[in-house]
Amino acid sequence: MIPYGRQQIDDEDVQAVLEVLHSDWLTTGPMVARFEQAFASSIGVSEAVAVNSGTAALHAAYAALGITTGDEVIVPALTFAATANAAVYLGAKPMFADVDLHTGLIDPESVASRITVRTKAIVAVDYAGQPCNYAALRALADRYDLALVADACHALGAQNGKRSVGSLADISTFSFHPVKPITTAEGGMATTDNPDLAKRMRRFRNHGIDTDHRERATKGTWAYEMVDLGFNYRLSDLQCALGLAQLSRLAAWTARRQEIAQRYDAEFFGLSSVRPLRHREGVTHAYHLYVVRLAGENMRSTLFYKLRASGIGANVHYLPVYLHPYYQHVHGTQPGLCPNAEELYRQILSLPIFPAMSNTDVEMVARQVVEIVH
Ligand SMILES: *Cc1c(COP(=O)(O)O)cnc(C)c1O
Repeated sequence: MIPYGRQQIDDEDVQAVLEVLHSDWLTTGPMVARFEQAFASSIGVSEAVAVNSGTAALHAAYAALGITTGDEVIVPALTFAATANAAVYLGAKPMFADVDLHTGLIDPESVASRITVRTKAIVAVDYAGQPCNYAALRALADRYDLALVADACHALGAQNGKRSVGSLADISTFSFHPVKPITTAEGGMATTDNPDLAKRMRRFRNHGIDTDHRERATKGTWAYEMVDLGFNYRLSDLQCALGLAQLSRLAAWTARRQEIAQRYDAEFFGLSSVRPLRHREGVTHAYHLYVVRLAGENMRSTLFYKLRASGIGANVHYLPVYLHPYYQHVHGTQPGLCPNAEELYRQILSLPIFPAMSNTDVEMVARQVVEIVH
């Protein structure tokens, strides 16, 4: 079976984890800061805060921005549920904005229509690995005095002009789940240029305590204070060592993903039955996903099941979040809220793309797709 995405673990990853296993610190040791610093400098920001999932990064980001009960947070409809759920964790209400039909990216006009006096933040999701229209989102955030968050879980390695994703919002979040651009099994990161936000997120990941275990050991003191309510969202040294080893290969992996996408683009060029999502001008796409639009829901289903039968694991990203039963039942959301996201949902399929995929496999997948839809 060729999956839609998968991790790549090499000897250097195994070696890096083994070294930590034989060291004094399995968690909250020296690898955390090393991974954070390498990650921050690879993106060009001053602060990176490691946490144990992308979801924890979103939760920490929203909490650090002061999002709380009664606030509204604008999120795109076409995303993984965690983007919205993290607002609900804090008692805030996710307001779903529609997406552009050609890119699947949050539509700034729809965002503007969702702004109320209760709005606290806009969350951009770099769907499939392509940066959103940050200029328009920043202008809206500035005009209404809102925070801008980037859920960049798809987009590590992407750029908007010359600036890396991770440096385009007040806080940006990443996931290191195995299908994401780099992995620590489970893991996440939040980046920012604001030291105060970074400090709050570091506290939030450690029960709201103002020092961590290693700082106290180094200073030779037992005293600590819990100054806020927090969680145990720490990322272990084993995982940070793995992340650090993975990060060194990110540039090569992103280049390989782009190469695979170009091969798919060439195979589907000029077809009306299989249309890849549009690539925006002036951005470097990280291609976490390679998403095509099919003629309709029936064709999408047929293609999904026939590909599966021939050992190709395509997938659908995503059911608009507000159509999940939880949101419909608990938050009262209904079909019709975001027409473009609903239309896209019926048409989209994510084809396999990951750095270790061979050119032969890419061609085989593309030919199967074309054969099935014709
Ligand atoms: C993967 C993902 C998350 C959640 O990350 P986890 O590490 O699985 O918690 C959040 N948002 C988006 C857009 C994602 O793709």
